[in-house]
Amino acid sequence: MPDYLTLDDVDVDGMDVLVRSDLNVPLENGAISDDFRIRAALPTLERLVDGGARVRVCTHLGRPDGPDPAYSLRPVADAMAALTEKEVGFETGGQITVMENTRFDPGETANDPTMAARLAEDVGLFVQDAFGSVHRAHASTVGVAELVRSVAGPLLVGELEAFGRFLVDPEVPYVVVLGGAKVSDKLGVIENLLPRVDVMLIGGGMCFTILKAKGEEVGTSLVEEDQLDSVKRFLDGPDSEKIILPVDVVIAKEFAETAEHKVTYVKEIPPGWTGLDVGRETNQLFASVIRTAETVFWNGPMGVFEWEPFRSGTEAIARAMAETTAFTAVGGGDSVAALRALGLESEVSHVSTGGGAGLELLEGRELPGVAVLSRWAGSRS
Ligand code: AMP
Repeated sequence: MPDYLTLDDVDVDGMDVLVRSDLNVPLENGAISDDFRIRAALPTLERLVDGGARVRVCTHLGRPDGPDPAYSLRPVADAMAALTEKEVGFETGGQITVMENTRFDPGETANDPTMAARLAEDVGLFVQDAFGSVHRAHASTVGVAELVRSVAGPLLVGELEAFGRFLVDPEVPYVVVLGGAKVSDKLGVIENLLPRVDVMLIGGGMCFTILKAKGEEVGTSLVEEDQLDSVKRFLDGPDSEKIILPVDVVIAKEFAETAEHKVTYVKEIPPGWTGLDVGRETNQLFASVIRTAETVFWNGPMGVFEWEPFRSGTEAIARAMAETTAFTAVGGGDSVAALRALGLESEVSHVSTGGGAGLELLEGRELPGVAVLSRWAGSRS
């Protein structure tokens, strides 16, 4: 039994409701390049308006150190207004009021009680719906939920239920696919997940530090020298045979979209070349592992998928995820974007709005923004 209340347990009619959504959208030159998170957040907000609530929604956007117009939520409010029939206001007014970036106040990341109290002012109910942020103990994820009666929103509940299938007796073989730039970001994840999975497929920039730790020549590929010892630790561990690394890679003369490039076996990477994607044999190998799995989670691109010549590894994973009948979930902005670009979003079992939060859940860690909701679990109305 989940240890939290949901919107099914409360009557919001006439109430001032504060929602913490994850509206942390990617921005390119000031414009929203992907509105996936706004679309995902809207059903909860609309349901609350329909239930008679006055809705305020807050979120962080990017990592500003203080007030910074480049990270204002105004464009998000405008984009939201275009996606819903409800009236949307920015900072004031509207059936849905989008508040300014929570990170404009340094109290947010410090989980400062003064900021939490400011957020809680005049609020009758707090709805935690920001799955992508509940792994952080901030004022808008934990502090405010200590002060106001709080419930888990439908988006959060859907995420927790989907991830539950990985946590409680996942159907085996259970395969995790990891990519992305840096191994340092994912060391904890690799170490904590390895004992739980049957196979871990690793590509992306992060595989080169691992390959180097295994004694391979990796040319000028992305290597975090200071992580080699930590990587050797899990390579020497009892579960190391569960890790499958690329056998071939797409290498380029330099780190550039238009650079000369070719495919080579990992064993034959020439000095001076840099690995920017996994190769065709690796695509087939990884796809065949995914095909035999019953439960698959994927986070992180296999290569520099932003550039067309180095996209095929990431696309191959997206296709394999879409084709298998296994229970599949995809997390992390880049992986989800790759899936969407191929129109395969509806072909996987679960598209997650969270990156880090999903990984922490799979590691078996408690998410502070979810844990705090338990204090209100007995307050059914
Ligand atoms: P992350 O933020 O750690 O999930 O990493 C995502 C980024 O990793 C993307 O922007 C990719 O371009 C980048 N990436 C993936 N593979 C490589 C690679 N082989 N070398 C350098 N960067 C990579």
